[in-house]
Formats: sequence, C-alpha cells, structure tokens
Amino acid sequence: MKIAIANLEEGEHEYQFDFVRTDVELEEAYGYDYPIHLEVRLTKMGDEYLVRGKLRTRANLICDRCAEPYVAEIEDQMLILYTLSGKVIPPEEEAQYEEVRRINPGDMEIDIGDDVRQTLILALPWKRLCSPECRGLCPRCGANLNVEPCRCAEPVVDPRWEALKKLLES
Ligand SMILES: [Zn+2]
Ligand SMILES: [Zn+2]
Repeated sequence: MKIAIANLEEGEHEYQFDFVRTDVELEEAYGYDYPIHLEVRLTKMGDEYLVRGKLRTRANLICDRCAEPYVAEIEDQMLILYTLSGKVIPPEEEAQYEEVRRINPGDMEIDIGDDVRQTLILALPWKRLCSPECRGLCPRCGANLNVEPCRCAEPVVDPRWEALKKLLES
C-alpha cells in the first residue's frame, strides 16, 4: 500500500484506500473478512511526511462469554512520521507518534502497508463480547443463557430423599 511522494507539494494531501486483508498480508485468523476502508491525511513538511490514518472495517470474532461468532465494528487511527534516515528525533517528539519510519532522500513513495497491518492487529478488542449484555454459558450445564434456560435450575431430586421426606411428613 503505497503513497507516491515524488514531486508532492508541501502541505496536506488526502487519500482513500479500499482494500482487503490480503492486500496488507493479514492472516485469516484475525477475522478481517470484510472490505477495509482507510482515510489518510498526509502532511508534507520538507523531507518529513506525517501520516494520519483512520481505519474502518468489521471483523468476525468469537465471544469470550458465550463462544458464539459475532461481527465486530472496528475503528482505529494511526499516526506515523516518515522521516529521513539519520535525522535525529528527540525522544519526547518521537513519543507523540505510534511509529517513526525512515526513508531515504530520493525515495519515490512510502509504503504504509506494514503500519496498516500493525494497526489492524492492535485494533482488535482485548475483551470480545457479542453484546455488552451477553449472559454467557452456564459454568455447570454449558447452556447458552442468551438463547436457552439453564438446566441446572431444575432441582435434581434423588428418589430416596423423596421417600424419606414423605416419611418425615407423615
Ligand atoms: Zn456472547
Ligand atoms: Zn446450568
């Protein structure tokens, strides 16, 4: 995924990318099975290129609580500085960016593919829930409490106790 920088004017430039996971070498296991949309705002300042990206897509995930598949809306941003190799960036400035990438004088393009892939991997939720109200599985009978009642709720009565109870009651 490349942006041509040869003869680019100073200032802001906007780009849109519509692509799929294989375009940025994302493995299937991440669940990014839907079209991915990326808006990029690139600011050229001399030999430096500041890339602000906004990613939007969906992913097929598995709920942590009920173990059912669901589709998650994924949105994330990236902020990356592409600067000349050898240029010293003070650590406090470097800390503002997610990544500082090095380019060489005369480079015709910058390749944002690796950073897009990285951003998508990190954008996956840590806690995965099909819905905030997901009731999960019963830890005893395994019933999916979103769709069926728990079978543990029905009291299991040993017939011998039942007989004893009758005896005590009489
Ligand atoms: Zn769930
Ligand atoms: Zn149960």
